[in-house]
Amino acid sequence: MRTTKIVATLGPSSSAPDVLTQLIRGGVDVVRLNFSHGTASDHRHRVDLLRECMHGQGRTVGIMGDLQGPKIRIGKLAGSKVELKPGQSFILDADCELGNKTRVGLDYPELIDDVHAGDTLLLDDGRIVLTVDAIEERQIHCRVHHGGVLSNNKGINRQGGGLSAPALTAKDMEDIRLAAALKVDFLAVSFPKSGADMRLARDLLRAAGSDALLIAKIERVEAVAALEDILEACDGIMVARGDLAVEVGDASVPALQKRMIRLARAHNRLVITATQMMESMISSPVPTRAEVSDVANAVLDGTDAVMLSAETAAGQYPVETVEAMARICVEAEKSAEVALERQFLDRVFTRIDQSIAMAALWTAYHLKAKAIAALTQSGSTALWMSRVITGVPIYALTQDARTRYRATLFRGVYPLMMPPTSKDRDENLRVAEETLLRGATVAHGDTIVLTIGEPIGCPGGTNTMKIVRVGDHSGAKPAG
Ligand code: PGA
Ligand code: MN
Repeated sequence: MRTTKIVATLGPSSSAPDVLTQLIRGGVDVVRLNFSHGTASDHRHRVDLLRECMHGQGRTVGIMGDLQGPKIRIGKLAGSKVELKPGQSFILDADCELGNKTRVGLDYPELIDDVHAGDTLLLDDGRIVLTVDAIEERQIHCRVHHGGVLSNNKGINRQGGGLSAPALTAKDMEDIRLAAALKVDFLAVSFPKSGADMRLARDLLRAAGSDALLIAKIERVEAVAALEDILEACDGIMVARGDLAVEVGDASVPALQKRMIRLARAHNRLVITATQMMESMISSPVPTRAEVSDVANAVLDGTDAVMLSAETAAGQYPVETVEAMARICVEAEKSAEVALERQFLDRVFTRIDQSIAMAALWTAYHLKAKAIAALTQSGSTALWMSRVITGVPIYALTQDARTRYRATLFRGVYPLMMPPTSKDRDENLRVAEETLLRGATVAHGDTIVLTIGEPIGCPGGTNTMKIVRVGDHSGAKPAG
């Protein structure tokens, strides 16, 4: 059983029903709709198809919308591309309509106010490097440092950050309404700089009628500095290594990844590790050794999920990529460090439901219980349990469909649909056992740890832990 979740971006390579079906079968837990590409109707079509495919397989797959954000891009070029030679001059020109090998347009003229002579600008995720010589009215005069082929609409980053573009563009506001209409489970916000950016996104999302969980993509220098503030204001973060690497320098990213994963968990937040994880599989049926190590290391760092971008959106081997990623995760998890002991000594739990969650985790780990079953409405008990890696599977039994979809991103948590139950406690526990016997890797005679709230049916009301032997209704007699 795999505990780390897989997020796969949908695109032209993964929009046919048979491919989607195989992706789900191969292990995709959450699909990502990248609002930087495609039309609203493309996304709507993919969502409809996904819902059909997953219901056909009886699987729960979450949906994440991902806003484009203020990604600054060059304009179009005559012939769609040009080759830039090291040492040549090149102008980013706000008034240029169609570019050539001496100049190109800009979709964000305000960039001119944010850059200075001596700055380094990176095009196309850092493949082309420019040094700013001078600013003249509406033109940025640059010298090509690293050359290469430049094509239409490639992104621009400034090394060191410092761009003033606000986190939500007019297109993002429209896409927030689209995300709400598509009933996504998660919304990722690109380039936030602060907790305030996330609060604004949440207000807009709520106003559009969605209660999706909010993921902050950490991809700006400013966001790294404001990490704690952002963590307070979001439900999870993404280690968005593509843009982050160009802003902070690629060599800083591995240590930042570890720190972000650790902090997210400590703040009871989710964390996704993203970008170029299996990049070579866009055109190769097998990963490189480096990619295998990268995915495995993210798992060992404690990430909730690993993400695929172009590999599944536009690659030649989307299904093979997901299968390879799943296989790497399972193997890496075998040597994941159990962080339970340290966690218990270092932390104070003030809430009753949180205390029960941690007590259940502790007990299940030490009793070597087969599973933990959290009867939960909001899913918060399962989230707390999943912030500490113990290797004991956590089943989130819930009647709330929203909670089931959210839990698709929680590491080590398996959402199960709990049939409607009565207010009667014993009846409820029996239904829970039946649900586990049907949907979980649990058999008669196994010891499991259950958490439940009494009286039944109030969210956040978990106040009871029970140790049961499955199928034995004469009382708790755990294996000793
Ligand atoms: P993107 O975000 O793919 O939307 O750019 C992820 C990243 O920057 O790593
Ligand atoms: Mn990005």
